[in-house]
Amino acid sequence: MTLDLILRNATLPDGRRDIDIGVEGGRIVAIERNIEASAALEIDATGRLVSPPFVDCHFHMDATLSLGIPRMNVSGTLLEGIALWGELKPLLTHEAVAERALRYCDLAVAQGLLAVRSHVDVCDDRLVAVEALLDVQKRVKPYLDLQLVAFPQDGYFRSPTAAANLERALNLGVDVVGGIPHFERTMAEGAASVTALCEIAARRGLPIDLHCDESDDPMSRHVETFAAEVTRLGLGARAAGSHLTSMHSMDNYYVSKLIPLIAESGMRVIANPLINITLQGRHDGYPRRRGMTRIPELRAAGIAVALGQDCVMDPWYGLGGADMLDVSHMAVHAQPMTSREAIRWSFDAVTEFPARVMGLEDYGLKVGAYADLVVLQAADPIEAVRMRAQRLAVIRRGNIIASAPPRIVELNLPGRPKTLDPADYAPRG
Ligand SMILES: [Zn+2]
Repeated sequence: MTLDLILRNATLPDGRRDIDIGVEGGRIVAIERNIEASAALEIDATGRLVSPPFVDCHFHMDATLSLGIPRMNVSGTLLEGIALWGELKPLLTHEAVAERALRYCDLAVAQGLLAVRSHVDVCDDRLVAVEALLDVQKRVKPYLDLQLVAFPQDGYFRSPTAAANLERALNLGVDVVGGIPHFERTMAEGAASVTALCEIAARRGLPIDLHCDESDDPMSRHVETFAAEVTRLGLGARAAGSHLTSMHSMDNYYVSKLIPLIAESGMRVIANPLINITLQGRHDGYPRRRGMTRIPELRAAGIAVALGQDCVMDPWYGLGGADMLDVSHMAVHAQPMTSREAIRWSFDAVTEFPARVMGLEDYGLKVGAYADLVVLQAADPIEAVRMRAQRLAVIRRGNIIASAPPRIVELNLPGRPKTLDPADYAPRG
């Protein structure tokens, strides 16, 4: 028997060791020890971690890599970021948006990030970014799954043409309904926008993913309305609430009522730790609040939580590099949640869980799934998070689409080893 590819001596995220993965026709056909076959290409993982690709279920690809155009965000707040983006929006061209997005996708692939849910701003009557990203979606399809959310950045009601533009974007083929209730003029209009958007998702049979309560205001409680509407309309796991940072500041008694409502609805939650920890708390003196939703409590209630990246080098965030392990690393620190179980969870939160949010078919390490794999310079998922491990090989449908040598450092120290592999520092015993 001859296969297209055999990846040998892999450690899997679930802890199985010395496993071979056989690939034929772009799909995984075997996951077992010592596959007795040859292959056109054999890769020895030498005991390193082989995982399904990283997935980012919350991103803004229309804004990425625009840092400094037309100027920098001086206050570092969400609201100055939105204002700055408003200055840039009229200047956007199809070519410029597509070129930035394609360059970003190159970087994503290099980091083993092969699926992205990107919000795209529909508050531009030209729909330049929508059309550019629909174009990019087709162009990157061979190597990256790009899902688009129709996002009324300036408010579904607050922006006079947002409602019509959102419908236009969905008619053009945008995949998911978006919204931003905390940016509407009043709490009442925010709640009304949640209802209107959930009804659009129900009518069209689409997923819905709302930027929800992305503030430090303990009274911003749109997630309550969202959960109730998801329950009323039976949207369940098709619905995702992004950010939910106001939950950090809410009264504990109120949260004890809210979390069961979210659980009852079946909706999912997406936290964006890199952005939440830098944008929130900006109006505080000291002590300064952390901008994170309550991940451990949500998880304890059985609510599916995933982590997103949100921004890379744009009006809201000047750093980032398409590295979803940065996101896990920040979540562990910012929450904080440092148990071995929680760090392990943070790896699934940028792989398996966001894949479920996006509804990716045939994802994962199982026979019959697409042969989409990443070889990491790490012994296990916790080590991958600890080191933000180097991606040694990125495989899409059985083909290597990115590769890099292991990071090995040459040392020149008296009486010490000549080379150092950071992955050798995994805990022993
Ligand atoms: Zn966002």
